[in-house]
Amino acid sequence: MADFCTICAEDMGFKPDIKIEEEYNRLNNGKYIPCLCEGCTLDAIGKSEDGELILGRYEYNKWLSKKEHFKEKAERLNI
Ligand SMILES: [Zn+2]
Repeated sequence: MADFCTICAEDMGFKPDIKIEEEYNRLNNGKYIPCLCEGCTLDAIGKSEDGELILGRYEYNKWLSKKEHFKEKAERLNI
């Protein structure tokens, strides 16, 4: 079964399987959880040591900011 993140699910009119805000709020600083969004290939949600949202994608060998990952759609995340 395919999973979709908050932003991709909203674009398609579904309820999200991967709730980015909820997962972020549950994380302690310096931790992450793996996931896989079939829409945008997001594969990890993390919280940096200073409490920022950071996003993982296998194509990149580094964490991305929400703006780097979601571009203008990043504004829809309430983080
Ligand atoms: Zn997505």
